[in-house]
Amino acid sequence: MYIVSKCLLGYNCKYSGGNNRDERVIDFCNSHQFVAVCPEDLGGLKSPRAPAEIIGSSVIDSEGKDVTDEFKLGARIALDIAKKESEGLNDEIEGAILKANSPSCGAGAVYDGTFSNVRINGDGLFTKLLRPLNIEIKTEEDFKIMGVEK
Ligand code: SF4
Repeated sequence: MYIVSKCLLGYNCKYSGGNNRDERVIDFCNSHQFVAVCPEDLGGLKSPRAPAEIIGSSVIDSEGKDVTDEFKLGARIALDIAKKESEGLNDEIEGAILKANSPSCGAGAVYDGTFSNVRINGDGLFTKLLRPLNIEIKTEEDFKIMGVEK
């Protein structure tokens, strides 16, 4: 079973009120077991909302509000949901397909906290919780590079 960032499947849970629908990810999910989660939504951050970026050990939105607690709560709930789903399906969590650069779901790169579209090495808060599971973690950008057959 795969964990998938919900916005990649077309759910309007993105901060802007829109989504990050990605047809390659959807094609992949059509032939694999998956659970879709949005950690920020699960942490109580409704859409639309101000964008947020990681600054040090905190997550701060563009209006200066500290939303670290909401991000941490949502990440924990999302992981719990994924574990319960995998137990229910009797299927191990094989990997995760996450939204690149997000302060929750980014994997290997996140925005640098200046809200100027600059990326630095790092993981989002949800991704950090997934790392100890030792599963394969990709973003939709990996699908674009590699190409995934239907
Ligand atoms: S990147 Fe993650 S937290 Fe952000 S909208 Fe998508 S699923 Fe939700």
